[in-house]
Amino acid sequence: MSYEVLECDLLVVGAGMAGLSAAGWAAERGARVIVVEKAPQIGGSAFLSGGVLWTAASPKKMELYGAGEPALGEVICERYPEAIAWLRRRGVDVSKTMKVLHGYGYQIDIVEHLKGCVDLVEKAGGHVVFETTVSTLLQDKEGRVTGARTVHQDGEIDVHAKWTLLATGGFQGNPELRSQYIHENARDMLLRSNVYSDGAGLRLGREAGGEVRGTNRGFYGHLVSKPNAWGEERYFTMLSQYHSDHALLFNEQGKRFCDESVGDHTNTYHTVQQPHARAICLWDARVHAEHATKPIVATAPPMDKFAVAMENGGEGIIAQNYAELGNFATAHGFDGEAMLRELSYYNDQANNGWEVMTPPRTESCLPMDRAPYYALIVYPAITFTFGGLTIDTGAQVLDNKGRAVPGLLAAGSDAGGAYGVGYAGGLAMAMTFGITAARTAGWQ
Ligand SMILES: Cc1cc2nc3c(=O)[nH]c(=O)nc-3n(C[C@H](O)[C@H](O)[C@H](O)COP(=O)(O)OP(=O)(O)OC[C@H]3O[C@@H](n4cnc5c(N)ncnc54)[C@H](O)[C@@H]3O)c2cc1C
Repeated sequence: MSYEVLECDLLVVGAGMAGLSAAGWAAERGARVIVVEKAPQIGGSAFLSGGVLWTAASPKKMELYGAGEPALGEVICERYPEAIAWLRRRGVDVSKTMKVLHGYGYQIDIVEHLKGCVDLVEKAGGHVVFETTVSTLLQDKEGRVTGARTVHQDGEIDVHAKWTLLATGGFQGNPELRSQYIHENARDMLLRSNVYSDGAGLRLGREAGGEVRGTNRGFYGHLVSKPNAWGEERYFTMLSQYHSDHALLFNEQGKRFCDESVGDHTNTYHTVQQPHARAICLWDARVHAEHATKPIVATAPPMDKFAVAMENGGEGIIAQNYAELGNFATAHGFDGEAMLRELSYYNDQANNGWEVMTPPRTESCLPMDRAPYYALIVYPAITFTFGGLTIDTGAQVLDNKGRAVPGLLAAGSDAGGAYGVGYAGGLAMAMTFGITAARTAGWQ
């Protein structure tokens, strides 16, 4: 059987942050690029995001908070200034600097950036095609990836390319892979991302000889209150309990199970491993005033997260005393008495022995003793996976012996290892590795 054939310098699979950043960068330097996108439009999770392009303030902080492979974390820090300069040079709207979690960044016009990349691709004679995916990568006798067989409802086309970049956005949309690579409880986790990223990049990379970092069980996500109906994109931020790093979390046995103060994203990771993958998130009047009603970044609107959760199906209580908290916990299948004992231990240690508390509190350790108390049952929701294809610092996919699979690149959430059980920005990771991939393909 013969297939229609197209030729290009760079074939990109996935038109999100990593894929289009690579495509635009290469096209601006003269490459003919073909981008295939499964959805009927560009943007992926990047278009659902707040567009805050941020990272850790130094490689040392990246190591601490991203907690992935130092060499990959360094690539993000090193390439970040170049990425910002590229946006500014093209006239993309970039805000003033803002503090974001344990780093810094900018609010950018993400739509302008990605649409601008499409324009660059088309201007250089390339194409971005929709509702198209890839059935298999093409390889020559030596194992070099030479393009891919693309599939559209009208038929199949072989795209021959000097380099192929996998940028399909991770495997969070695939319950089977979530349970295999993250935790068996992760099979039923709520999806807080685009619906198309279901592990195609992993499958294609692996079939071509690439290795998957199966030991990296990390992912980025947030704890959310119970929704009336999940799926509407506005819930992704509305119901996220970003302030859980200032609260306490208790599992069904009434036990704390992690250092909550590290961040809501790591709390999400730890909660999926708890019985029935849920927890009670508890905070007091001080935390409510200082964190649960304040925006996570300067550009987001303030909102009372507890009130919004309760208006949309949340299970919670505003309690005037500890006894009411215990009753609420017991009524919802948690061990209320054990939870109150644990809370009392926490308050004692916060006052007299934070340094020997277990689990520890490394970032903020103040007693929860100002009524009223807020308790909300929370569930993990996943935004993207960390355990993708093994890559080197040039974004080349590696096999299980550490050798590059020739011609094959991966960036963004399809690539594994940049983060461990930590997080320092998804957009910056995708954009910097997208640019890195384009450079490795020869477009400096
Ligand atoms: C609600 C929300 C808020 C966020 N806020 C922020 C934020 O403020 N700051 C930040 O740094 N990060 C944020 N993120 C995370 C950020 O959006 C992602 O980390 C980033 O978009 C990942 O880039 P990517 O290119 O890997 O994936 P994506 O941007 O998701 O792109 C992947 C693309 O591949 C396509 N695709 C999937 N499968 C195939 C296939 N088989 N064939 C062809 N195409 C395919 C998808 O449709 C998609 O277009 C947020 C995410 C969400 C959901």
